[in-house]
Amino acid sequence: MISADLIVTNLAELVTCEPALGEGPLGVITRGAIAAAGGRIVWVGPESRLAAEVGAVPGAQRIDGRGAVGLPGFVDSHTHAIFAGSREEEYALRARGASYQEIAAAGGGILSTVRATRAASRDDLVELALPRLMTVLAHGTTTIEIKSGYGLTTADELKMLEAARRLAELQPVEVHSTFCGAHEVPPEFKGRTDAYVDLVVDEMLPAVAERTLAEYVDVFCEEGVFSITQARRILDAGASYGLRAKFHADEFVTLGGAELAAELHALSADHLLKARVEDVAKMKEAGVTAALLPGTAFFLGLPYAPARKFLETGVRVALASDFNPGSSMGPNRAGRSCTRPVRGEATCRTQPSCASSQARHGVSRPRGPRYHEARPGPRPHGRGLAVGSRRGGRGWPRRRGRARAPPLAERRDARGQGAPARYGQRPLPYLPVAPARPR
Ligand SMILES: [Zn+2]
Repeated sequence: MISADLIVTNLAELVTCEPALGEGPLGVITRGAIAAAGGRIVWVGPESRLAAEVGAVPGAQRIDGRGAVGLPGFVDSHTHAIFAGSREEEYALRARGASYQEIAAAGGGILSTVRATRAASRDDLVELALPRLMTVLAHGTTTIEIKSGYGLTTADELKMLEAARRLAELQPVEVHSTFCGAHEVPPEFKGRTDAYVDLVVDEMLPAVAERTLAEYVDVFCEEGVFSITQARRILDAGASYGLRAKFHADEFVTLGGAELAAELHALSADHLLKARVEDVAKMKEAGVTAALLPGTAFFLGLPYAPARKFLETGVRVALASDFNPGSSMGPNRAGRSCTRPVRGEATCRTQPSCASSQARHGVSRPRGPRYHEARPGPRPHGRGLAVGSRRGGRGWPRRRGRARAPPLAERRDARGQGAPARYGQRPLPYLPVAPARPR
C-alpha cells in the first residue's frame, strides 16, 4: 500500500505523457487519479484502483478534479520575462505599418527595453517580474527559462541573472537561467561588434560562471546582430564554462544557425523561421531540439516555421512562448500551442483535440498525432522528462488550478520616487517582502 498526503480524484482524463501508463502517445488514463507524498507524485492510475493501492495518511489533502482533464505542467523553454519598461505603444505603430527600423528610430525597439532595464535595480526587476510569473502559472506553466540580455553591460547582465535567482526563491514556478549577453549590440559598441563580443567572452561569461548564475548560453545569431563566426565564439566560450548552447537561430534570415547548432551539439536552436530543412535534419542527427516560437511570428505577422517539414526529418520539436516586451507580449505557453504553428504546412490538430485545448475546454481525449504536445518542452532544458510528465517519483507541480499570488505586504517604492513602469502600465499594488514558499 502506497502512502499519500495528497490525492486528486475525479479527473475525466489524466494525461501522463508516458505512453506506457495509458492510451496513445500521451498515455491518457480515463477517470484517472493522482497520489503524491512529500511533494512528489507516488502513484497515478485509474481511480478504480486507487482505494486498493493507495492509503491516505492522517490529514491528507483530497482534491476533487470535478471532471477536468489533468495535465503535466507546461515547460516554457524560451522567455525574456525579466525586463523593465513597456513597449505597448510599438504595437500601435506596427499596426500602422511602421517598420522595426522606424520604431527603433523613434526610440523604441529592444534598446528601449535596455535603457529601462539598466535604470532599474535588481529588486525593481524582481517586483516587475513576479506578477508575470503568476500569470505564467495561471496558464499552466510550472517551469520557465528566463534569459538575460537587456542589460548588455557586465553589471546589468549580472543584475538580470541575480533577479532570476531571486525570483526562483520567491514564487513556485521553477526558474532556469540563460546568459544572453549577446542579445543585441549596445549603443556604446555601435559599429564595434567584435569588441562587444570580446567583452562578452572575456568579462561577462567568466563573471556569470564564477557566480553560477546561468545554466545556458544564448546568442541572437542574426544578420546585422551577431554573425555565425561571432556566435560560434561566444557559444564555444560558454561551453568552456559548462554552459550549454541554446540560441536564436535563423529567425529572419537564413544565416546557417541551424547548421551551427548541429555542429556544436547545442541543446536547442530557437525560432528557425528561415532555417533550411536540410540543416534541421543535421540538428536531428546531432540531437538538437528545434524550439519553435509561434507567438513571435504571430505578433510580427511573419509566416510560421514549417514545423511539419521539420517533424518529417525526425527532429524533436518543442514550443515556447518567447515572452518578451516587444514581439511576444504574453506568457501563455498553452496558447502558443494553439497558434497553429504549422499553418499552411500541415494539419495542426490543436483545435479542439490538442492537450492544451483540452485543458482549456475540458473536451475529449486527443485523436491523431499530437506532435507538439507529444514532444513536450522539458528537453530543451536538458531535464529529460523530469518535469513535464506525471509518473511516480516526478515532481509535483507546486500549484494547480488558479494561481494565487505569494503573500504580499504593503507596497514600498524601492527607489522612493515613483514606481518603475509596469507590465501593462498597471501599477502593482503591493511588493512582496517574504518568500511565497521557501525552496
Ligand atoms: Zn528570444
